Amino acid sequence: MFHFANAMRIEKKNLSEKTSVGIGPVVDWIEIKSMEDLLELYKKKKRLPKQFWIGNGSNLLASERAKNLLFVNLSGEFAKIEYDGEYLDAGAGVKISSLLGFCTCNGLSGLEWMAGIPATLGGAIFMNAGAGGKSVLDYVKSINCFSDGKKVCLKEFDFAYRKGVEKKILSAKFKLEKKDKRTVINNIRANKMLRIARQPSDKSFGSVFKNPGKFYAGKLIEECGLKGKTIGDAVISEKHANFIINRGNATFEDVYSLISMMKEAVYKKFGIMLEKEVKIV
Ligand SMILES: Cc1cc2nc3c(=O)[nH]c(=O)nc-3n(C[C@H](O)[C@H](O)[C@H](O)COP(=O)(O)OP(=O)(O)OC[C@H]3O[C@@H](n4cnc5c(N)ncnc54)[C@H](O)[C@@H]3O)c2cc1C
Repeated sequence: MFHFANAMRIEKKNLSEKTSVGIGPVVDWIEIKSMEDLLELYKKKKRLPKQFWIGNGSNLLASERAKNLLFVNLSGEFAKIEYDGEYLDAGAGVKISSLLGFCTCNGLSGLEWMAGIPATLGGAIFMNAGAGGKSVLDYVKSINCFSDGKKVCLKEFDFAYRKGVEKKILSAKFKLEKKDKRTVINNIRANKMLRIARQPSDKSFGSVFKNPGKFYAGKLIEECGLKGKTIGDAVISEKHANFIINRGNATFEDVYSLISMMKEAVYKKFGIMLEKEVKIV
């Protein structure tokens, strides 16, 4: 058992319960609830396995190799939201659903398009999560990261389609528009309905591939006739061909084989090399 000066401890967690696709081995896991915890972890890092910062686990496919990593999850003070009348400040461990709940209560508009994206703010910023042509970093004013044992505030950062700020994210600041609560609720509701109509609700990690340029990855995969294709307990969704569903007991290998099949088929038919959106760990 590894000892820390404060109440932190390394626990065992099953990644099949910590990822939305429900796949993965039992791994070492640590909850970081304060800056003090983080500094303690930093001091001990040379004696610990390599870290992997995990948010909601909604974009992850974990193999047995994940057993060699220490999964770091932010909660406590990193799961707080504050609003000073001008800026909204949210911790990286805040779930997007909670962020939108806060926006609704305070009549803050701008992020309603994120409704239904299962993510923490940290994961969303790392990935530059987006939908309908919008992406989260378009709305962020500044980001606090953890770098070389210090909190660093970034006011300028590069980002692109599904390519976010690839640093250890602690919190972010937004400037949102004041609107009446009813408008915010209605916007959220409309976005959720759209999502329900277009995406499967079964166990998945969201889109497998990024959309290449002006094409839609789902449409290309569908045109290769792969909807419903099954390996083991993993299946390419009938509703949206860029989603792989775990029907119950799918393994990393089942899903990985389907990913390779999709990539090869699209390359063969269209000469387009798809790039993975899902993070493989
Ligand atoms: C049903 C479904 C629908 C989805 N719809 C969308 C969608 O519309 N648009 C979209 O963009 N995505 C979508 N996704 C994918 C996923 O929700 C996003 O990629 C999201 O941003 C992942 O956030 P997370 O907190 O779950 O991150 P995780 O999956 O836990 O991690 C993803 C990456 O972020 C890193 N990370 C997480 N937290 C931190 C942190 N604090 N600091 C540094 N790095 C961190 C991890 O190391 C990893 O590399 C969907 C997924 C599902 C299951």
